[in-house]
Order: sequence, then structure tokens, then C-alpha cells
Amino acid sequence: MQNDFVEGGALAVKGGNQIVDIINKLQESFELVIATQDWHPKNHISFSSWPSHCIQGTYGAELVKALNKVKIKKIIQKGTDPQIDSYSGFFDNERKNETELRSYLKENNVQELFIVGLATDYCVKYTALDAVNLGFKTNVIIDATRSIGNIEKAILEMKSAGINIINSKSLNQIRDIT
Ligand code: ZN
Repeated sequence: MQNDFVEGGALAVKGGNQIVDIINKLQESFELVIATQDWHPKNHISFSSWPSHCIQGTYGAELVKALNKVKIKKIIQKGTDPQIDSYSGFFDNERKNETELRSYLKENNVQELFIVGLATDYCVKYTALDAVNLGFKTNVIIDATRSIGNIEKAILEMKSAGINIINSKSLNQIRDIT
């Protein structure tokens, strides 16, 4: 959740600001909250296909002000290699480099993830696909995401990979059952 991805930002996702409150509320239910942060050098390769965004040290790269950061224990920066884009919080798009995310989760004995944020069909989807492939039980809280393109297509792809698509309102019921 970074300034450049919400309304007014360089690469704004429609409705991005609407999910901040939902995410803040959700955080109350979790012990460990981790954020990812696009952290691009000025000459990043993705700027040939996307508007320049989330440049290291700029306002656009900062986490959204209204986002509650008290429970965020770790920020995983990604997209730092000028030559490779990185949608997933785990690996760059060419899977050449890995972030600290997997080792951090292992150190903290995390087995199940609940993913929220922007955008459903890019960073959320790629993070979720990597997570499930790495063996984590993976949930996407779909109403706490917003997409750039077709959300239904992204949902189908995630479901067929074994990712649970849930709603923030049903989260407490699900957690009681499991
Ligand atoms: Zn980016």
C-alpha cells in the first residue's frame, strides 16, 4: 500500500484508497503483519511499460499515511534491480533473486498467509502464487484488494492454483473453523 498505487499516485489503482480501512481493521486479527514495498531505482526497467512509480526515497514509494503501521514488523522491498521487474513479494519476475520474505516467514514459523493490497491481478496474484508453490497455506482476502484489469480472471487463476479466496467478513468464521 504505497502512495503511487492509490488515487493521486503515479500508477493509481482505482479504489485503492477504499481498502485502507479494511486492511487496518483486519490487522487487529493477526499477530504478524508484513508489508511489501516496490522500491525502484530511477532507471527501472518497468518504467518502459508502466509510468515511473515508487522510486526509492520518494513520497510515491512511502506506505500510505492512513495505513496503520504499528503492527507491521517487516517491510519487504522489491524491484530494486534496475533490469528486472518484480510483482511477487518473494521473487523477481525472472526468478533470479529472492527477497527476504520466505526466510523471514520460516524464522517466524508462519505456515499460513492472508494476502491483501494492490493490485489483485499483479502483485497480489504473483505473491499468492509463489506462496502456495512454496508450500504456505495461502488465502487472498479479496475485498481487501483492488485490481487493474479483470479481477474474475485473476480469481480463477488463483483458485486453480489452490489459493483460498475469502472475504474479510467471513474471516472470523473461517478462523474459528480451522
Ligand atoms: Zn513497480
